[in-house]
Amino acid sequence: MSLIVQKFGGTSVADAEKIRAAARKAIRAQQQGHGVVVVVSAMGKNTDRLLELARDVNEKPPARELDMLVSTGEQVSVALVAMAIDALGSKAVSLTGGQMGIRTDSTYTKARIQSINTERIERWLNEGYIVIAAGFQGIDEDLNITTLGRGGSDTTAVALAAVLGASACEIYTDVDGVYTTDPRALPEARRVEVISYDEMLELASLGAGVMHSRSIEFAKKFGVPIHVRSSFSDIEGTMIVAEPESETSPVSGATLTRDEARVTVHGVPDVPGTSLEIFSGIAARKISIDMIVQNVGRHGRADISFSVPTSELSATLEAVREAAERIGAERVTYDQDVAKVSVVGLGMAKQTGVAHQMFRALADADVNIQMITTSEIKISALVARDAAQTALRTVHRVFNLESTPSDAKSWEQIRAERSERADVETLVTRLREDALEELTLTGIAMVDHQALLTLRGVPDQPGIAADIFDAIGNAGIFVDMIVQGIDAENGRTSISLTFPQDELPRCLEVAAQLKQQYGLEDFHGTEEIAKLTVSGIGLRSHTSVGTGMFRALAEAGINVQMINTSELQVNAVVDGKQAQKGLVALEAAFAEALR
Ligand code: ADP
Ligand code: ASP
Ligand code: MG
Repeated sequence: MSLIVQKFGGTSVADAEKIRAAARKAIRAQQQGHGVVVVVSAMGKNTDRLLELARDVNEKPPARELDMLVSTGEQVSVALVAMAIDALGSKAVSLTGGQMGIRTDSTYTKARIQSINTERIERWLNEGYIVIAAGFQGIDEDLNITTLGRGGSDTTAVALAAVLGASACEIYTDVDGVYTTDPRALPEARRVEVISYDEMLELASLGAGVMHSRSIEFAKKFGVPIHVRSSFSDIEGTMIVAEPESETSPVSGATLTRDEARVTVHGVPDVPGTSLEIFSGIAARKISIDMIVQNVGRHGRADISFSVPTSELSATLEAVREAAERIGAERVTYDQDVAKVSVVGLGMAKQTGVAHQMFRALADADVNIQMITTSEIKISALVARDAAQTALRTVHRVFNLESTPSDAKSWEQIRAERSERADVETLVTRLREDALEELTLTGIAMVDHQALLTLRGVPDQPGIAADIFDAIGNAGIFVDMIVQGIDAENGRTSISLTFPQDELPRCLEVAAQLKQQYGLEDFHGTEEIAKLTVSGIGLRSHTSVGTGMFRALAEAGINVQMINTSELQVNAVVDGKQAQKGLVALEAAFAEALR
């Protein structure tokens, strides 16, 4: 018997009528001959309401009790859905996370799934019941109730689909698919028919709230196709699968996270191990930070900035202030009024000038970029919060996201092409029963013979980044990593970029012109650098990867000069002469995870 997992989000079970509609969908699937597991979220805004209640009685509620509280939201809805199915004449049973044997670690409010014991679910299915599974929750070793983090019911659904070997995982929600950006934020957003795991993972992690990013880690690891579709209509939605919609378009989606904060640690002694100190305290609190920018050191000291969701700001500052004191950094500053706009696309890895196009468009729209980071499939810019909406609309327009790419493939086409191939590979063929959400690494690599150029004292005004990359683009230089960070000393910024070593002389010429033209303070070229890369799935949310990398390099006495992160890769730029040693250190540090 084939099995289908259907997941209904909060708005899809918000009242009795909607609960009945969900029940009918489940019954219909069963009548078509499938085994059916239904995963449900708390009704409507119930989780928010419960969290408010908690804050009313305690400003800093203990995390264990928070999970005990919010998990009740899902318990209400599974029972109601089961009753609705019963009323319609079919058999249904509701199960909590614990009853389904969803075992997690003990990180309350963001627990990870370790194992799922499918026995009980399978027994009910075999007896002809529709199983109604509470989303977002599990239990730890000590039978404490845990939750997976906001939006985590998606992860419950995809995890169940993976371990039960379901033929489909349908995510029913209040939009009719995945759009090029949040259609509530931008009406011109386009619904896509297909999107790749890699792109969706990155978009979700950068703020596309339609899917919990960890659900996409599961889907990619275990090759689960996801169908995101509307609860309120029957139209086909979006398939999230291994293949992208288009092979040529550089950008397939854009996101905005309005509630970001920028944190800067000033005057960090520029010696191996200091970044490790800063980031390990943050990682230990399971906070995933983004946009890490290290301004190349002056007088033996550097400034390190990064972005973090404002909801995590106070915990982050606590960690960072402790670390700053230990390592003798000068001070910590932050800005809460920023937003992050990002673009994502597999295609940008193979094309030049994508970042430049984004900077130019933002400059033309008079949006000042405070920080920039790039990685292989995404570019992020930090802007003032009041410029956020303009920034999103601008990048959406410049990459033509409202129109379907000319080479776009339908899900039908992709499916047909698949059947011509021998086998569709999944990354993880053997389920490690005790470590479902454990870190999955796919490789460690080094690219050497690279060079680094840093422009210091760049005036902080709209258009400068675009002008600089115009000049570099016109010289035909293929730029890899780009970071721009604030230089709080003088209200200016600094921009660093990497490129192949043989381009350095030309880059220095361009830099000399730029210095004259824009009144830069100075510039500095480093001839021999190398990029060390750790690749895997869900690297930003597995906060241990960044720290593990810093630790391994610090212990080998290697200074990290630049870093960038995505869900798929963490890259560190190091001195070329030490790169081989760094590679060996990383291979040793991650040997376990690579096996
Ligand atoms: P559910 O309760 O069903 O899980 P969510 O509110 O978590 O629903 O997710 C659906 C919402 O995600 C949509 O209403 C939409 O506003 C938002 N969203 C954000 N980014 C996107 C996107 N790229 N495509 C579609 N919806 C998006
Ligand atoms: N009810 C939880 C939340 O609101 C989980 C979910 O809906 O996915 O975050
Ligand atoms: Mg959701």
